[in-house]
Amino acid sequence: MISDKTKTRDRNRYAILREIQKQGPLRRTELSRRCGIRISSVVSVVEELVEKRFLKLADPEHPRAAVAYAGREWFVLAASVAPQEITFGRVDVAGQVDHSFCVALSPESSPDDLVNTLCDGLGSLHAMQPDRTLGIGIALTGIVTRAGGIWHSAIHFPAVHDMPLMEAVTRRMGMPVLLENDARASLWAAVWFDPRLTHCRHAIYLSLCGGVGSALMIDGRPHPGAHQWAGELGHMRAGSEGRPCSCGKANCIETYCSLPALRTDILRAEPGLSPLPDAAAVAEAIRRNPVAANIAERAMERLGTLLGTLAAYVDPDVILLGNQDPQLYEALLPSLRLHLQRQFQGRGAMNLPIEIVPDAIHAPLCGMTGLVLNEVFQASLSSFNDHGSPFTLAH
Ligand SMILES: [Zn+2]
Repeated sequence: MISDKTKTRDRNRYAILREIQKQGPLRRTELSRRCGIRISSVVSVVEELVEKRFLKLADPEHPRAAVAYAGREWFVLAASVAPQEITFGRVDVAGQVDHSFCVALSPESSPDDLVNTLCDGLGSLHAMQPDRTLGIGIALTGIVTRAGGIWHSAIHFPAVHDMPLMEAVTRRMGMPVLLENDARASLWAAVWFDPRLTHCRHAIYLSLCGGVGSALMIDGRPHPGAHQWAGELGHMRAGSEGRPCSCGKANCIETYCSLPALRTDILRAEPGLSPLPDAAAVAEAIRRNPVAANIAERAMERLGTLLGTLAAYVDPDVILLGNQDPQLYEALLPSLRLHLQRQFQGRGAMNLPIEIVPDAIHAPLCGMTGLVLNEVFQASLSSFNDHGSPFTLAH
C-alpha cells in the first residue's frame, strides 16, 4: 500500500522532472515557484534524483545553481519497425541517440521472426551498459494498442494479426516494454523534446513518405481513439481517378499526396526531370518547374480539404509535418497553407501554426523514448527508492 506521503513525493518528482523537460535547466527556487512545491521538498527530491544520476547540478555547493538532466547516464532502448527494416537506437533522457543501426526485414517475416530480430537488436544495445536501461519502446507501422501491448495489423506485414508483442519482448528481455504506432511516436518526439513545442496540448502530426501518416494529441496525450484509428487519414478517399492503393482499395489520399505519388505524377507530366531519386529532388522540381508546381498544388488541395476538416474538429495548437526531408515540406507548404486558409473561411489560417519537424530519421526512436520517460516519471517510484536501478514501468 502506497502512503499519501509517497504519492505526494511521486507527484512532486514527476512535476519537477517534467518541468525541467519542458523548460531546460532551472534553479531550485524556480522549480518551487513553477511547480507550486515547497522549496524544502524540491531540494529533497532534486537531491534524490542527483544521487540516482538522473539530474545534475551545475555547482553542487551553490544553492542557486541550475538543475539539468544528466546526459548519457540512463537510456531507453528503442526500435522502429518499418516495412523493410527495423531501426534500433539507444537514446538518453535528453533525446540524444547514442548508438543506432538498421536491420533489413522481409515483408514475409513471421511473428516469431519479428520477435527474434527485435530481441537480438535490443539485446545488443542492452549489453552495452546493462544497468543503465530504463525500459524499451517499440514504434510500429499499423494498428497498435499501447495499453495491452498488442500489434493488431499492418498492411505491409500480412502475418501480423493481434500479435501480443509487448508480452513476447518483455518475456525475452526481462524488462518493461511499451508499444506505440510510429506516427503517434513521432508526434510525441516533437512535443516532448522540441523546446518550441513542449507547451502544446493539442496537435496534429502529418508525414508524407511512402504513404500518408498522421496522428493526434489531445489534451496532452496521444489520442488513439476507440479502435486505434484516430487521425488515420492515409486511406481516406480523396479522388476518383481509380488509382490503386496498397490497402487494396483505390483513390486513397496517399495515392495522390505521398512522395511516390508526387514523383510519379511529376515524371508522367515532365519525363525530362527523371530520375528524381529522393524527396530533395522532388522538392527542387516543385520549386523550379511550373508543371511540377501545379501537380503539387492539386495534391495539396486534396490534402488541405481533409486536413482542414480534421483541424476544425481538433482545434490544434499546431500542425506538425515530420518524418520526411524538410525540403519537401518547405516546397509544399505555401500551397498547403493556401488551401487550409480556403477551408477555414470564417477563421484565419494564422490561427493554425504549421511547424516542420527537422529530425526525420530518429523521430520514432526519440518518440518512444519520450513515451517511456513519461511512464517512468509518472510511475510510483517506490522501486526506484528501494533498490535503485533499473526502475520499472507500471503496467
Ligand atoms: Zn488505401
